[in-house]
Amino acid sequence: MPTYTYACARCGTFELVRSIARRTDPAHCPGCDRLGARVFTSPHLSRLDPSLDRAVTSAGLSSERPKVTRHVPPAARPAPSARPGHPALPRP
Ligand SMILES: [Zn+2]
Repeated sequence: MPTYTYACARCGTFELVRSIARRTDPAHCPGCDRLGARVFTSPHLSRLDPSLDRAVTSAGLSSERPKVTRHVPPAARPAPSARPGHPALPRP
């Protein structure tokens, strides 16, 4: 069964595992037993690992406002190769 979020006027939000058929019914708050209405939230985004959350946020920002780069950042440059034939290859 899915987990739904409800809001209590006194205690705040709480989650409840319920059947889909009862998802719109008000639910009793576990703290004060008042009825709370369902709150619509984004699915499980608050439970993401912080590093994954940063990656998802960064990817979203990058798709909306990509940064323009005119050169390769120093940290992204590969280390020079020690193989004898590599220095003769064309460079960007
Ligand atoms: Zn309550």
